[in-house]
Amino acid sequence: MTGSRCASVALWLQARMANHRSSLVSAPASAKTRRAKSKIPKVGFVSLGCPKALVDSERIITRLRSEGYQIAADYDGADVVVVNTCGFLDSAKAESLDAIGEAIASNGRVIVTGCFGVEEARIRAAHPGVLAVTGPHQYERVMEAVHDAVPPLHDPFVDLVPPEGFRLTPRHYAYLKISEGCNNRCSFCIIPALRGDLTSRPSNHVMTEAEKLVRAGVKELLVISQDTSAYGLDIKYATSPWKGQPLAARFLDLCDALGDLGAWVRLHYVYPYPHVDAVIPLMAEGKILPYLDIPFQHASPAVLKAMRRPAHQEKSAERIAGWRKVCPDLAVRSTFIVGFPGETEADFAILLDWIKETRLNRVGCFKYEPVEGAKANELPGALPEEVKEERWHRFMAAQQAVSEALLAEKVGREIDCIVDEVDADGALCRSKWDAPEIDGSVFLNGDGNLKAGDIVRAKILHADETDLWGERVG
Ligand code: SF4
Repeated sequence: MTGSRCASVALWLQARMANHRSSLVSAPASAKTRRAKSKIPKVGFVSLGCPKALVDSERIITRLRSEGYQIAADYDGADVVVVNTCGFLDSAKAESLDAIGEAIASNGRVIVTGCFGVEEARIRAAHPGVLAVTGPHQYERVMEAVHDAVPPLHDPFVDLVPPEGFRLTPRHYAYLKISEGCNNRCSFCIIPALRGDLTSRPSNHVMTEAEKLVRAGVKELLVISQDTSAYGLDIKYATSPWKGQPLAARFLDLCDALGDLGAWVRLHYVYPYPHVDAVIPLMAEGKILPYLDIPFQHASPAVLKAMRRPAHQEKSAERIAGWRKVCPDLAVRSTFIVGFPGETEADFAILLDWIKETRLNRVGCFKYEPVEGAKANELPGALPEEVKEERWHRFMAAQQAVSEALLAEKVGREIDCIVDEVDADGALCRSKWDAPEIDGSVFLNGDGNLKAGDIVRAKILHADETDLWGERVG
């Protein structure tokens, strides 16, 4: 009886696709021939449950079709089968387990998604052979599991989407998101309420995307997430195969593997946990960039506690000093909030002393603003706007002096720079210590014989409190 599930859904889909196909412009004959020669990957689809689950199935199938997958009409013709489950009632869960078992028996390669997918342990106990289990609405993770099981074909003559996907950044740098959501509960932030708890991508999915980006011409990978140093915690640092070896979903292992791709690798949104120490030697040896973006937000223990910041008990100033002993060229960028509810003049003085002591390279500062729904709104001691404003100016003046002194130390050095833009005045570049959009620049005035993405050697001739000026050498 259940043997009809796969076929009926596939036939239902085929009817709609047939209508749609009739309105499509035919691909050129040569492209069709190329397609025919290569084996087009096929995905079987079993869709159980309510109309919401059906919409999820439609969205996944739309993604599959847009990437060139065909939908198989039966289990035999499928390279892999996706089972979209229902977990509403015990009877629905039992039916889902039956459907998964049938797909495994008939095809062998099965990806489970949908509402029952939140009970991964139960599914794996019943069917240890499933390839991947994801929850409802997790379209990206379903697509990643399908890519793992049967990679999409890419034909640049007919595919509208390049293999590395569409990007809104310039061609030479790209953001690489390694996880979504956050397990922390900072009192001023509503991101966990919006995006949920930490959900890390398998390490080989991250690496596959990174490799595609580098192949497409990306010279600099900007690793992002809500909490980069927590990467893999939620999936217990699970390994996945990469280049024939198991690669753990662990911060250090991922940084090490990314460093093998031949691009600049820059780490954003890292917290100063002790395990971060282990990546500093990779920076010292030049495998990843000597750069850490750490949103400290404050330095006063009382304010950090009220903010409920992760790693607030860590001795951050000592930790940074230790890192600089291992990697003297390390640049640390951070953001801070002044005027948080309850911040006293003494708390603010601690912050000013701290930034003078730690000499962070790049710093952004925000005046506290209540965010609707944030716990911090319930805290006593809201500060008047003029106090926030006055502290912001004092903070920025102190940091400007630090930045000016640090950049003056670069004058006379020869450094590598990546070119961001070239115009009639010369090349606008960045050093390894500067991320795009948020940090400073290196100006090579009069040097127009370059293009975006070039990495050149420059001697630094001049500095101000934000930027450097130099000339090409070598
Ligand atoms: S501020 Fe960052 S670490 Fe804190 S809860 Fe928000 S996303 Fe998580």
